Amino acid sequence: MEKRKLEGQIAIVTGASSGIGAGCSKELAKAGATVVVNYPVPGAKAMAEAVVKDINSTGGVAITYKCDVSREDEVKQMFADVVEQFGTVDILINNAGLQKDAKFTEMTLDQWNFVIGVNLTGQFLCAREAIKEFLRRGVNGKSKSAGKIICMSSVHEVIPWAGHANYAASKGGVMLMMKTIAQEFAPKRIRINSIAPGAIATPINHDAWDTAEHLQQLLKLIPQKRVGQVEDIGRAAVWLASDDADYVNGTTLFVDGGMTLYPGFEDNG
Ligand code: NAD
Repeated sequence: MEKRKLEGQIAIVTGASSGIGAGCSKELAKAGATVVVNYPVPGAKAMAEAVVKDINSTGGVAITYKCDVSREDEVKQMFADVVEQFGTVDILINNAGLQKDAKFTEMTLDQWNFVIGVNLTGQFLCAREAIKEFLRRGVNGKSKSAGKIICMSSVHEVIPWAGHANYAASKGGVMLMMKTIAQEFAPKRIRINSIAPGAIATPINHDAWDTAEHLQQLLKLIPQKRVGQVEDIGRAAVWLASDDADYVNGTTLFVDGGMTLYPGFEDNG
């Protein structure tokens, strides 16, 4: 049997108790990775356990781990505990993210800071700990890289989004953080890329596809005329994390059914 693409590699997936994080966890496990299914608060534990159960039922290996990615002490502890339990970390899926939407003139500083704190600072904190571990270990034979990071960005790293200034700013920030650290650590054989999902059916955007009318509105923005599924993102994450993508570094892979293709121009503008 052909060796699975991520056989024996240790992956931390942040915000993995639901949506895209859960989907990525399952696809990584199918590809042979041992997956740390991160969740932020005690209330999300049962959902994280359900993801682990699902992975275990198909012969995969996974554990749950509670950590708020916006808290430096908790992030450091998560990486230390995972390295102690599994020996290292090979892959980080920097996925945890949220929205606190408001009209710009009504946006509170708390709403701004909360979204930046999780979506951007959280990715910084996790990437920093991951890179320290990759540098400590170096290339170990499990992969051509010393480590791989995939930042979950969004089409809103390029598409402005009225009413979501905090979210769009966080994803624009992720884009340049990702490119900057990819440049800095490429000589150390560390690969860092982003995935920019379009509209993927998850709890974060439930309102956008929950009724036939909302769905029709949403599909106007998607040339491929279907809403994405978490597996679309999970499979892209497996490819980016695998040696098949060994020469891919510092790029954003848009997985969006064409959402960034200016769909307003579809019938001659
Ligand atoms: P989701 O709400 O299902 O998942 C977000 C996860 O992040 C949840 O499991 C939540 O518990 C976790 N989380 C929130 N704060 C956290 C914290 N402080 N520490 C750790 N975990 C935390 O939504 P999703 O759609 O799966 O979103 C996942 C990522 O994908 C986000 O970064 C989001 O911005 C991005 N994204 C989603 C879409 C989409 O259409 N669904 C599109 C573009 C980008």
